[in-house]
Amino acid sequence: MPDPSRPSRIVIVGTGIAGTTAALTLRDEGFTGSIVLVGAEPAEPYRRPPLSKDLLAGRVPAERLRIKAPEYWETRGIGLRTGTEAVAAGEGRVLLADGASLPYDRLLLATGGRPRTLPGASTLRTLGDALALRAALDDGRPLAVVGGGLVGLEVAATARGLGADVTVVEAAPRVLGRILPGPLAEPIERLHREHGVELHTGRAFTGAAPGTHVLAAIGTEPETGLAERAGLAVADGIVVDARLATSDPAVYAAGDAARTPSGRREHWSDAQAQGVTAARNMLGAALPHTAAPWCWSDQYGLTLQICGALEGEQKIDGDPSELDASVSFISDGVLTGAVCFNRPKDFRTLRANLGT
Ligand SMILES: Cc1cc2nc3c(=O)[nH]c(=O)nc-3n(C[C@H](O)[C@H](O)[C@H](O)COP(=O)(O)OP(=O)(O)OC[C@H]3O[C@@H](n4cnc5c(N)ncnc54)[C@H](O)[C@@H]3O)c2cc1C
Repeated sequence: MPDPSRPSRIVIVGTGIAGTTAALTLRDEGFTGSIVLVGAEPAEPYRRPPLSKDLLAGRVPAERLRIKAPEYWETRGIGLRTGTEAVAAGEGRVLLADGASLPYDRLLLATGGRPRTLPGASTLRTLGDALALRAALDDGRPLAVVGGGLVGLEVAATARGLGADVTVVEAAPRVLGRILPGPLAEPIERLHREHGVELHTGRAFTGAAPGTHVLAAIGTEPETGLAERAGLAVADGIVVDARLATSDPAVYAAGDAARTPSGRREHWSDAQAQGVTAARNMLGAALPHTAAPWCWSDQYGLTLQICGALEGEQKIDGDPSELDASVSFISDGVLTGAVCFNRPKDFRTLRANLGT
């Protein structure tokens, strides 16, 4: 009789960084049972952050974005099924759009996020989206970016590097409103203006001149359709406990799709770290996911790095207006977060000291 606490068949839905990291971690942890990794996108698993940076700029080809060489998955005994959507899950089975039915003892939903859209605008989430955007820029079309968040500003910077006329329209009074305190976003607005971006804040997008390519970069929604159909608790993401277990103890969730007790993140490093935690816990570890969030962005050679919670008193070393600074956030004498402009060494130290 199989021991229910020791899974022998694990299915992972989502071939992004959360799902692929989980699959590799399962093997690293010595799991010898079957692993099937299912992804709706046709491409081999790839890294998403370069889509708005090096790939869009043409500095790297699509093949260089692969998380692993195509044959690697097989060598680790991971069954990769790309280009097929999981349409239903529950009762120990995942049903795929191609008709296959995969049995599982543990299921991980790493279904990521879906960009919010605007009529007539494109979005940027997948490799296909990035290649289409690149083609529009190669045609010499002006670009209007709706949304001054990280992805929108990265695309604006890359498009200026390619010589495109770029407008950014942000409805909020300033860019990066959800990410940085106002004074720290100002130097980034200035950087874009200095590079020739026509940047409008506090203004709703009402339309663009004919021939302009419009990109909606107005955030993402968690991809929760499969979880909802499986009857799992969903509220701005697939609801998970600190161990990343969903309301069904055989099903876990990780990455952009998951809402943990500390919230939902949309960062590469968090999705990766959650993939590790979810894999260990599917094997019975019961570890809480405690890693502090962090992310980075590259724009015109500026490396911006952010970690933790940006609350409390600020201690500034350097000059943010010169884009050369590390800013520590301290609450009750404890470092809670940091923002670094072009200071990767400081960032490593600050991140290591977070919460200590
Ligand atoms: C252009 C861009 C640039 C970014 N740059 C940065 C950056 O510089 N720094 C940073 O920290 N973060 C960055 N991010 C965010 C980061 O890439 C994401 O947080 C991370 O990729 C999320 O990983 P994930 O595995 O949770 O989800 P995803 O990467 O979204 O993967 C989920 C996968 O699941 C698949 N899927 C969904 N539903 C199903 C289903 N029912 N059946 C089968 N497959 C399904 C999807 O097709 C998708 O391939 C960027 C994101 C974008 C879009």
